[in-house]
Amino acid sequence: MELFDTHSHYNDQKFDEDLEEIINNTYESGVTKFMCIGYDIKSSKKALEIASKYDFIYATVGISPNDIDGISKSDLNEIEILAQNNKVLAIGEIGLDYYWEKDEDKRSLQRKIFINQIEIANRLNLPIVIHTRDAYIDTIKVLKEHVCKNTGIFHCCPLNNELIKDGLKLGYYISFSGVITFKNSKPEIPINQVPLDRILIETDSPYLTPEPYRGKRNDSRNVIEVAKKISQVKNLSLEEVAKITYDNAKRVYKIS
Ligand SMILES: [Zn+2]
Repeated sequence: MELFDTHSHYNDQKFDEDLEEIINNTYESGVTKFMCIGYDIKSSKKALEIASKYDFIYATVGISPNDIDGISKSDLNEIEILAQNNKVLAIGEIGLDYYWEKDEDKRSLQRKIFINQIEIANRLNLPIVIHTRDAYIDTIKVLKEHVCKNTGIFHCCPLNNELIKDGLKLGYYISFSGVITFKNSKPEIPINQVPLDRILIETDSPYLTPEPYRGKRNDSRNVIEVAKKISQVKNLSLEEVAKITYDNAKRVYKIS
């Protein structure tokens, strides 16, 4: 059985000390492909650096809505240049975060930077990886008005049935994280809403550690806990969920 973790941050400093060991252990455990996701210039460069060393790791580059303070046109140019490397398979994570940002001017700046990066994705024929939090209406509005030709992924998708419905309608993939294993979460309806050809699994390592490991640093080996939860809800074997989500990830990231 092979698993594909569609969203992780080995570019985070929490992995500085044992990065190589974790990557090797992850691969040995059966997670044979994973994405290292950028969120600002520095982390995007580091994602690409890590992906360049291993043929089973790929990168995304982008500026997240929580990292737009002081960003300039030249930063966006830099993202566009980095994204031309063939290990970069998407622009992300990009999007809107109204949970952490309450100021209306800054929210409007988030929308502008989001749109600019959708345009980069379209120029380079790449999909996008979307971060959206407490911003369902505006996220869908942006995606309708600024169509990303290759669509992309709602990463750590909020368990919001309306968002999932609209995202699916626009052609996006829905990626679930360890959040669906949390004891207080109610993921059954959201998971069942997503057809099998659009569902993905991720860890968002080092964050969002699934049950039963909550409180520890997360790494891609735990993506199996997310797959297990989906297999229970959808009444499939773990092997089926692994295969389905692996093939979906290869399709959306265009890995042949
Ligand atoms: Zn992330």
